[in-house]
Amino acid sequence: MFIDSHCHLDRLDLSPYDNDFSKMLQAASDRGVDKMLCVSIALEQFPSMYELISQHNNVFASVGVHPLSAADEQVTVEQLAEKAALDRIIAIGETGLDYFYQTDTQELQQTSFKNHLVAASKLNLPTIVHTRDAQEDTLQMIREHGSLDAAGVLHCFTESLEMAKEALDLNYMISFSGIITFKNAAELREVVKQVPLNRILIETDAPYLAPVPHRGKKNEPKYVVEVAQCIADLKGISVEEVAETTSENFYQLFNKARL
Ligand SMILES: [Zn+2]
Ligand SMILES: [Zn+2]
Repeated sequence: MFIDSHCHLDRLDLSPYDNDFSKMLQAASDRGVDKMLCVSIALEQFPSMYELISQHNNVFASVGVHPLSAADEQVTVEQLAEKAALDRIIAIGETGLDYFYQTDTQELQQTSFKNHLVAASKLNLPTIVHTRDAQEDTLQMIREHGSLDAAGVLHCFTESLEMAKEALDLNYMISFSGIITFKNAAELREVVKQVPLNRILIETDAPYLAPVPHRGKKNEPKYVVEVAQCIADLKGISVEEVAETTSENFYQLFNKARL
């Protein structure tokens, strides 16, 4: 069984499925993708996202505000805690720092990231971290405000091996997306080889970033199989082993999903 550990199910293009969410889930299930974590990016959209996922018991969700929305919506520890108490909310995020797309909002991103880390520590929930071109600040904030016990994941990882190693030392998992299949990602594939399988999660980040050979199309959870296959090829192991171990890793990190 494959678990898509990071997707935005309320933003998928369902037109190939007659706009029927269940048919999209069935297409994923037909490829062995039976569980997924729908990641929140804005509190404003949280109620409609939660209503969607509540109807399907193989779908989990998180609560958080994306770093690129931090300037539009500042979230408090209390707001996060209130939503995190809901059934099947198993993580805080996605949060983090993105200095690639926004340099003028760094302070607002940091305040938001801090609130997420504090909420996660308090609630003993893992944090889903988005990080781009902000290696030092991201690690520093996790060290300062994060929890070693609850830890978290650096999602859609595209940064250096050094950063991956430091995150592993902080008890974090590393999640790889379809980017690892892209032609120009040779350096990142070296990182995949170096990160131990028992610390890896797989994700689509759908509807963004469809893997090769679907690149450029709308992404969806069923394509997490291509991500797993790429990891299997790089490590010289079977795709079944990648599926099994990354699913175990998922439950180890997001342990509220076991309940
Ligand atoms: Zn992200
Ligand atoms: Zn995302």
